[in-house]
Amino acid sequence: MNANENITSEEIETLAQVTHDAIFNGCLDYENLERHIEDYGIDVYYNSETDVDGYLRFADNKPRIVVKNYDNPNYAKRQRFTMAHELGHLILHRNWEQGKEVDSSNDELLEVTLYRGGEYPLEIDDERERQANQFAGAFLMPRRDVAQVLQQHAGDGKMSMDVAKKVIASHFKVSEAAAFMRLKTLLQR
Ligand SMILES: [Zn+2]
Repeated sequence: MNANENITSEEIETLAQVTHDAIFNGCLDYENLERHIEDYGIDVYYNSETDVDGYLRFADNKPRIVVKNYDNPNYAKRQRFTMAHELGHLILHRNWEQGKEVDSSNDELLEVTLYRGGEYPLEIDDERERQANQFAGAFLMPRRDVAQVLQQHAGDGKMSMDVAKKVIASHFKVSEAAAFMRLKTLLQR
């Protein structure tokens, strides 16, 4: 599977936001990401045996996101980031659309996200991985909503990066590391 070399970072932002709106459909209960993804036509499975963080495959004519089962609620944020990352591969690199027929005759394994030491894949220099991570950040924390949340908290005043990171992490139910990476990405633009 190749990186989508024609897609710009701005297009990833837009696609991720459109996907966010379609998947959450106005019901912004971020902790229920798994259910929303399933309602959207993508199966989510847990695997206790795997030693990778997650992977993507087609099975039973549906895309299937598989995440490592940690049996520990402390890993829920990490698992949601992995789901969003695999969703990114599906949308960006397989051009999957809701309701589209898929040929799963080979039960094809599409993408594997290797075990990550921190919040982000180790193979970050891979363009495809970078694109999936940007999608995941933009999907979990759309630019429009980040701006709105920060404005609500800051009012007319200024906010330090440390406070902003905590506000965003708490609002979007992501780790502070993921919130920090997202804010850095948005500030670089
Ligand atoms: Zn990946």
